[in-house]
Amino acid sequence: MSTKRCGECGSKNLDLKSQIGKPYPWKDYPAVFLSKDYKVLECAQCGNTVESGADVANLSKLLQETVIEQTQTFIEMILTREGCKQADLAAHLGVSPEHLSEVKSGRKQPSFQTYNFLKTLAFENRSFRVSDPQYNVLKKAI
Ligand SMILES: [Zn+2]
Repeated sequence: MSTKRCGECGSKNLDLKSQIGKPYPWKDYPAVFLSKDYKVLECAQCGNTVESGADVANLSKLLQETVIEQTQTFIEMILTREGCKQADLAAHLGVSPEHLSEVKSGRKQPSFQTYNFLKTLAFENRSFRVSDPQYNVLKKAI
């Protein structure tokens, strides 16, 4: 029997529930949709979650793993589709090849800006060409 209470409504009716797929702010990311199974006590009365310090530390680790996995997927998608080298992709992103290599291996987390750029490049085929540093926007627009 749990002695914990909901911090919002005081109810003792708490269930352990998975938070997979839920958006969480993390570092400079406004929302990371958790792809890992994270279970916390949820109030059956008001839906408020009751998280311990250990839960919060675990969540941070899981959000980091989610971002790394998604980033690796985006990079693989782009490299496979474009048939380009990692150094080419780094030039499109405006980051050093070393940085991209560390991001791909999971040693470094990308900034939200880089993550978002990778996501766009992964899902929008034309954006790869437009983000080429050699692409002359004004010339192509006319
Ligand atoms: Zn409650």
